[in-house]
Amino acid sequence: MSESQLRADIVEVGRRMYARGYTASNDGNISVRLGSDRLLMTPKSVCKGFMTPDMMCITDLEGRKLQGERDPSSEMLMHLEVYRQRPDVQAVVHAHPPIATGFAVAGIPLDRAVLAEVLTTLGSIPIAEYATPSTKELPEAVRKYIKAHDGMLLANHGALTSGADLYAAYYKMETIEHFAKISLVARLLGGENLISREEVERLQGLRGMYGIAAPAPLCADPAELDVNDPALCQVLEAPEGTGERLIPDVNAVLKTASRTGEIRLTYGELTALIADAVKQLRD
Ligand SMILES: [Zn+2]
Repeated sequence: MSESQLRADIVEVGRRMYARGYTASNDGNISVRLGSDRLLMTPKSVCKGFMTPDMMCITDLEGRKLQGERDPSSEMLMHLEVYRQRPDVQAVVHAHPPIATGFAVAGIPLDRAVLAEVLTTLGSIPIAEYATPSTKELPEAVRKYIKAHDGMLLANHGALTSGADLYAAYYKMETIEHFAKISLVARLLGGENLISREEVERLQGLRGMYGIAAPAPLCADPAELDVNDPALCQVLEAPEGTGERLIPDVNAVLKTASRTGEIRLTYGELTALIADAVKQLRD
């Protein structure tokens, strides 16, 4: 693909990210490989919704600027790390989509077996540990997960995706935000039903059938985890189903009443009960 086409594609991806509210102000950054030894990247301090093709920077794989009036993205180090760890990756997208970032802020990874499409494409979406943006801490946090994952949340920060081209990386960002929305709604409605481990294995087989190039296999059984290299599989919460394909969310069931008849309350519900009891005593 020509350099001018890639510049135009970065502009378009930036416009879509901004239009969908994945970035505010000058947030986010986008990069793509330009041949074997150079990168084309968004510049520092511009709104991704209003870029023009001439604004982009060209750097080498060490981050040295080769061309461009502006300086490269402040998150360049994170992008360089992804390209270093993943020779198959052609493009990297970083944004702060609000629902997915809400999960990243709450410390809740999107790693439950919930949607078949997400399982076959992205697999599980972990949270990379908090790191100060634009420092070398951030690439270190990303390094732990990038070998096994095309998409991840960044604790108290945002999300990061990669792909075989610019649009593939961008669509993964859309998938993460869409999945986060669905997960949030399901949790508000009482919790997700989970896809069973057996069904996850079936879906894993479909990946091969549809030629989906996932970076690592799904690990629905924690015993499959390679302790020497946890980065080589995607860990999922998918309970044993004894033949069932869908399993009720155990956590949601526990919240209302356990098998022993025990009732679990949230902190808010408990304080409301106590306040009510005290009021009745006073009256
Ligand atoms: Zn950011």
